[in-house]
Amino acid sequence: MTGPDLFSLAGHRALLTGASRGIGLTLAKGLARYGAEVVLNGRNEEALKVARAGFDPGLPPVSVAAFDVTDQNAVEEGVGRIEKEMGPIDILINNAGIQRRAPLEDFSRKDWDDLISTNLNAVFFVGQAVARHMIPRARGKIVNICSVQSELARPGIAPYTATKGAVRNLTRGMATDWGRHGLQINGLAPGYFATEMTERLVADEGFSEWLSKRTPAGRWGQVDELVGAAVFLSSPASSFINGHMLMVDGGISISL
Ligand code: NDP
Repeated sequence: MTGPDLFSLAGHRALLTGASRGIGLTLAKGLARYGAEVVLNGRNEEALKVARAGFDPGLPPVSVAAFDVTDQNAVEEGVGRIEKEMGPIDILINNAGIQRRAPLEDFSRKDWDDLISTNLNAVFFVGQAVARHMIPRARGKIVNICSVQSELARPGIAPYTATKGAVRNLTRGMATDWGRHGLQINGLAPGYFATEMTERLVADEGFSEWLSKRTPAGRWGQVDELVGAAVFLSSPASSFINGHMLMVDGGISISL
């Protein structure tokens, strides 16, 4: 496809996990501006309704679907309900994620398990549940939100880094298995963006100074700057791209 519809998401329904705030909510608004009917997921239905109220009137309909992405039964039930009551999911943005920080020698088993559950297992649970509906239709786009930490190691977040590295490879595996069924599965790897997840880093002046020196762009990213990449990977513009990880990081991953 060429022409003005190249980036259009009109007529497509997108499910975004972890869209009650932060990057997920920003991407949902961005996809809606390009015509998608978005479904916001998170664990707290009230928070999702508040998030929905912040969408510009005049955009396509916005729905909410509260379920915990770490609970496979809840995921299958939630995805089944969306497909049945709202219609086909054409785009999945696997975004829900958490961070836990501690030196690796002190890292607790609970924090390790929580990270694996949310950042890795859930990408498989939601991806598989949605792909099972997409495969018979022989079309669908999945964007796994990864991280610059799949390429870089930083002190105190080794388990998070491990989950994001695994998601990078899971993305390639999904593309290998499901690309043959007409699906496209790509990754989007943000660098550093100010959200609730990074608020401790934002408050740390030393970190911001390090980041400015280390990043070719010389600054933090702004969450809106992730929208273009997400729209691209969700739209006809990326029709021959599969299993790719698109870094949106101001260049930090390629700079020493
Ligand atoms: P936030 O903490 O701001 O938002 C996380 C979102 O995930 C919330 O909507 C939260 O909703 C949801 N969530 C968490 N656990 C679950 C769960 N079990 N089930 C359903 N939803 C859940 O994080 P960000 O927006 O910063 O991060 C979004 C993604 O981007 C994550 O995958 C993160 O790893 C990645 N990322 C972020 C970067 C950054 O600089 N901020 C950099 C690189 C990657 P609720 O609590 O209401 O359920």
